Amino acid sequence: MITFAGVSKAFGEKEVVNSLDFSIEKGELFVLIGPSGCGKTTTLKMINRLEETSGGSITINERNIRDYALHDLRYDIGYVLQQIALFPHMTVEENIAIVPELKRWDKSKIHQRVTELLELVGLEPGTYRNRKPAELSGGQQQRVGVARALAANPEVILMDEPFSALDPITRVKLQDDLLLMKRNINKTIVFVTHDMTEALKLGDRIAVMNEGGVVQIGTPEELRNQPESQFVEEFISSTD
Ligand code: ATP
Repeated sequence: MITFAGVSKAFGEKEVVNSLDFSIEKGELFVLIGPSGCGKTTTLKMINRLEETSGGSITINERNIRDYALHDLRYDIGYVLQQIALFPHMTVEENIAIVPELKRWDKSKIHQRVTELLELVGLEPGTYRNRKPAELSGGQQQRVGVARALAANPEVILMDEPFSALDPITRVKLQDDLLLMKRNINKTIVFVTHDMTEALKLGDRIAVMNEGGVVQIGTPEELRNQPESQFVEEFISSTD
């Protein structure tokens, strides 16, 4: 459903991603993992054109991302960042409603959607919808970030190390909840992490990256049982 064909990216003279050729299936939770600086975030950002490709093409449902109006592409792709990026002066409800409002949904539909989403991410709507971000814990803020990414029902969600700034207990809880949520929402999720334990737990498939390229793609079992290189073998064992 999302297809990379010969995708490369250079910043000036420096090529940071090259020859990316893979497809991410609809409904799949696809993890990009690799050491710091290997090009994970750049690869993710090319999907919603926060970074433009230098070569090759990316298609979503066979449509080249360059053929979308940029705002449609951004509305149709939810984005969750590591740094919790809620607007501090806005309530939880207002933060979640940003894209539906841009899409001119009517007020009662937005209110209903916020209620559904808060329930989905495990925040009781009556308690939380009118709070400001500063009145929430880091984990609760990140739940709001997930709700916001889902707000206008995008087909694709991009998540860039969404849980890595959280304490280990909250992180595990959010990972568990993401897996539960995924069963209900049937979205394609592209998830960047440098944590192999997280990748093996969450990923339907995992792409292991190194120095700007993908070195192996497989299910957690395939990567564990049939690593195709010493790099992958060592990277997998870095979890234990
Ligand atoms: P990390 O796990 O540390 O976040 P990453 O695998 O996500 O790393 P990227 O952020 O994609 O890696 O960066 C890949 C390479 O591209 C790095 O060498 C980085 O310094 C470089 N890079 C990223 N953004 C830019 C930019 N805007 N201008 C120049 N170089 C950049």
